Amino acid sequence: MVTADELFAIDSLLNDEERAIRDTVRAFAAERLRPHVAEWFEAGTFPARELAPELGKLGLLGMHLEGYGCAGTSATAYGLACLELEAVDSGVRSMVSVQGSLAMTAIHKYGSEEQKLRWLPEMAAGRVIGCFGLTEPDFGSNPGGMRTRARRDGDDWVLDGSKMWITNGSVADVAIVWAQSREGERDVIRGFVVPTDTPGFSAREMKHKLSLRASITAELSLDGVRLPADAQLPEARGLAAPLGCLSEARFGIIFGALGAARDCLSAAIDYARTREVFDKPLAAYQLTQAKLADMALELGKGQLLAVHLGRLKDRHEITNEQISSGKLNSTREAIKIARECRTILGANGITLEYPVLRHANNLESVLTYEGTAEVHQLVLGEALTGSKAFR
Ligand code: FAD
Repeated sequence: MVTADELFAIDSLLNDEERAIRDTVRAFAAERLRPHVAEWFEAGTFPARELAPELGKLGLLGMHLEGYGCAGTSATAYGLACLELEAVDSGVRSMVSVQGSLAMTAIHKYGSEEQKLRWLPEMAAGRVIGCFGLTEPDFGSNPGGMRTRARRDGDDWVLDGSKMWITNGSVADVAIVWAQSREGERDVIRGFVVPTDTPGFSAREMKHKLSLRASITAELSLDGVRLPADAQLPEARGLAAPLGCLSEARFGIIFGALGAARDCLSAAIDYARTREVFDKPLAAYQLTQAKLADMALELGKGQLLAVHLGRLKDRHEITNEQISSGKLNSTREAIKIARECRTILGANGITLEYPVLRHANNLESVLTYEGTAEVHQLVLGEALTGSKAFR
């Protein structure tokens, strides 16, 4: 017997360092995360505060950033770590993505030297947790319409508005908040580093989710939040700035979502080999084998694309359209695989004893955040036709 990875000889595409990082994350996930994840999911909680220093110690926070206490690995190695974390649960990978690819990347890419020195080493170590506030109640796919405002008052900035669906929001020590600021005749989007103990800042955890339950999601409220001039990210100007961070997080999802799919496929194969129906194992039926073969094929193709995109990113050649193609493919195929695996497990598939429906439910969020599937189709559509069809 072979796994889908072995079928496609995925290991042969990786170097020794990448395989070693992957194996370390896999072992940590098996020991420290997997035994508890169903419990977290059921309780609708995630021990972010407790796990962040452990994730930091492994070098997983801001893993592919250079300097300031970050591990500085290749993008491909970062992707492989995301895959191993998401094989446990998309919530774990989301925590790591938001910390490293969104909050830390915003400071690393657009921050002043003082901001980098103040925040990044503590965030890399997991002693400080970050969140990234872009989405608002009325503006998700179209963040350019955001209503949160930043205005000057003497040297200070004052922020008013609200953000919604913010991962890590209610446990964060620092929030990267995007807001419109009036500059001359026009509004310009600017980014701010907001310590969450600043008066006027509050975060309310969003409960009753049916997806990403092992992840903290919050609504942020900014009510006259007064910040010193140096809280603004000096190099962030316009929507391109938050989108630059989203590209980093989307890249991690290209690998990550395939981890969830791999876990579902492996659970379905194990189940089919032992479950007897009509006097023989489910795995011995042609219909089951056809399902498994098709899923292994999609998983393998997805991984080949992911590694290819990882290599392009490592050579600094990757384009936004290529990231969109990978995010669209991985999330769309992963959710199909998770649902198909659920059918193989029959009624058992709907329980938390097996990971398949938990992954399928999580992937509903992964399909939606970091650009919905439709938004990525529109990005690709524009690249192929030259016509923007967003509005
Ligand atoms: P909408 O934009 O209202 O879209 C609704 C539907 O319309 C979708 O199917 C969409 O594809 C479609 N649509 C939109 N525009 C078009 C168009 N032009 N043409 C055709 N169809 C279109 N945001 C953050 O800022 N930080 C976070 O940490 C964060 N974490 C999240 C965690 C979770 C669990 C979830 C679910 C979301 C999170 N988000 C976060 C928000 C996420 O990025 C948004 O939900 C996403 O951008 C989609 O926005 P929306 O939900 O408002 O949907």
